[in-house]
Parts: sequence; C-alpha cells; structure tokens
Amino acid sequence: MSSTEEIKTFQTLFKYQHSFITFKVISTACELGIFDLLRESGELLSSGTLAEHLKTSPIGLQRLLEACVGLKLLTLEWKDGKDFYGNTDFTNLYLVKSSPKSQYYSMKFYSEVMYPSMQHLPEVVRKGKNQSSSIYGTPNVFEIIYRSKEELQTSSSFLNELWPVLGREVLSAFDLSQFPLICDVGGNTGGLAKELISLYPKCIVTIFDLSKLAETFKNHCLPSEDSQITFHAGDFFKDPIPEADLYILARTLHDWSDEGCLQLLRKVYQACKPGGGVLIVEMLLDEDKRGPSTAHFYSLLMLVLTEGKERSATEFNVLLRKAGFQKIELKKGSLFHIILGRK
Ligand code: SAM
Repeated sequence: MSSTEEIKTFQTLFKYQHSFITFKVISTACELGIFDLLRESGELLSSGTLAEHLKTSPIGLQRLLEACVGLKLLTLEWKDGKDFYGNTDFTNLYLVKSSPKSQYYSMKFYSEVMYPSMQHLPEVVRKGKNQSSSIYGTPNVFEIIYRSKEELQTSSSFLNELWPVLGREVLSAFDLSQFPLICDVGGNTGGLAKELISLYPKCIVTIFDLSKLAETFKNHCLPSEDSQITFHAGDFFKDPIPEADLYILARTLHDWSDEGCLQLLRKVYQACKPGGGVLIVEMLLDEDKRGPSTAHFYSLLMLVLTEGKERSATEFNVLLRKAGFQKIELKKGSLFHIILGRK
C-alpha cells in the first residue's frame, strides 16, 4: 500500500472512531434547546446571548456551537469580532421541536435509550441475547421504555415522528384504497394511521396496541371514539385481533424472534377477511447480508434491546408463506421497504 493510500485508509478509521461524537453534538444541542431558541428569536444570536438564555457556561456553549457550524447545523457570521449564530434550513426542518417534520424526540430517545444500551453490546454479543432482565429487571423492551409517563411520551413521539417524513412514500407503494378497513397492529398512537387517512380519506383505521398507551394518552393524544381512527387496546400475543381487510405491521416484526413473528402473523391471517392482506414495513437486509449498514445497525440495536432482528426479503417471504399468506409482492422505499401478502 502506498503511503497516500494508507493515509486514506487511516482517515476512514479516524472517521468511524469519531462518529459517535456527531450524534452527541446534535443530541446535546437539541437537549439544551439551542435550535429552538434560535428559531423562536428569528434573528442571529451571539454565543454570549445564547449562553445567558440557556443558562450554560459561555465557553462550553461556544465550543458546542462551533462544532454545530462544522456539521452545517448552524451558520456563523462575524460582526465587529463577535460571533453570531443562526439555524440552517436542515436544522429548522428536522431539529426544531415545532417543525411538522421534527425529529427532536428521535434524538432524545436515541440519547436516553439507544445510546446507553449500546454500552452493553460486548456482553450482549458474548451471550447472544439482550441482557435487559439483569439490567432493567424485565426482558420486554416496552416495559422498559414505557416505565414512566414521560418515557412513554418520548417513545411514542419518537415512533410517530418518522411518518410525516416517510409515511406517504410507504403508504403509496401499493394502492391501499382496495382495503376499506385497516388495522395498524402495533400502531402506537397513530403516527402512521394519520398519514393513512390523509392519503386514503375513505378508509377506517383501528390501531391495535398495548393498553398502557390508552391509559396514558386517554383524552388527548389518542383518536376519539367517533373519529376515522380508533384505538383498540390489547396484547397481540394474548388477545383477539380485530377483523380487518388489511393489517399493517410497521417496524413491529423486527422486535420479535422468528417464532414470535410466526405466532403473530398466524393470528393476523386468522383474523384477516378473505381477499384481504398484510402490509409489512421494515428495513431490509440485502440477501447476501453485506448491507445496508443502516439495517446492520438496527439489527444490533434489536439484539441489544429486543428478541428481534432485521431480516431480508426472503426471510419475510418464508414467514409470510408459513403463516398462510400468498401472492407476496415487494416495493423498495428509500429507507423502509414494503411487503404486501394476500389471504
Ligand atoms: N408501528 C409503529 C411505528 O412504526 O411507528 C410502532 C412500532 S414499535 C417498534 C412496536 C409497537 O408494538 C409499539 O407501539 C408497541 O407498543 C407495540 N407492541 C409491543 N408489544 C405489543 C403487544 N404484545 N401487543 C400489542 N402491541 C404491542
């Protein structure tokens, strides 16, 4: 290897080595409220003014602001030797809490749940399964992330936030207007369901999810009884699943082992009306498992936190066929892919 090639290879290692800092810079800036304050003020603010409002040290904040400029999350202008910062369009779109496409709670969830859980990766890899029972006293990730009202709200906001960005792409991959009654199994508090009724105004949607969500969000975040979206509380491994023409399983099967997925898919098949179907929305691993990295990363997160994993299209195909579904079709999306199976 020539010395130029070697330096290039080393740069790759250097980039990987520091990639966690990128995440920490963004999540810390979100947590401190830098982007929200700049958005609300509507003008460029100096590091001193920002530090005063956010009650931080000027020196620490300036260091963080400069790192945000380097990542193109903030702009920096100099006036009379003083530094003035503003949000970029990217930041206003995704990191400001009030933006309709905000990913603020994703950052919060990753910072509070995903990031610390990855500290256990070596032990989890050694043992081959999550260590949640010894760490948190339960192996069930939903008991962990729904422990308090605040944690549940962060988790739900994180899950819902994806759909104003990707919902349309995912839901228009197949023409779902042929399915008047749709059940979103593990649909949380309706992020995807809201996109569904906006794209298919005639459909009726039932969200089937844990009663803990109903107890916490009663009277506000959940759809009301007479709306086009209703919430049906239950445990999909223990309770009957409501009848529907189409069942959506978005980011739900990746939480479970093959046995768990098969149990759930068989229940869905039993409940499904003849001619109906199931729509799976997940990341997909390449058939040769060489990529993509996002799916590899998610599979590791699933190993650390759940019983599940990411799968390839063929692996989903096998599960769907074993459960009884036929005519399985796949449409590729930009990040999440869509598989439709028919009864
Ligand atoms: N489908 C949503 C989305 O993509 O935004 C949420 C996906 S989240 C990873 C999995 C969902 O399954 C959560 O909303 C969780 O509450 C729900 N869930 C987990 N175990 C469940 C069970 N036993 N019965 C019903 N719902 C369950």
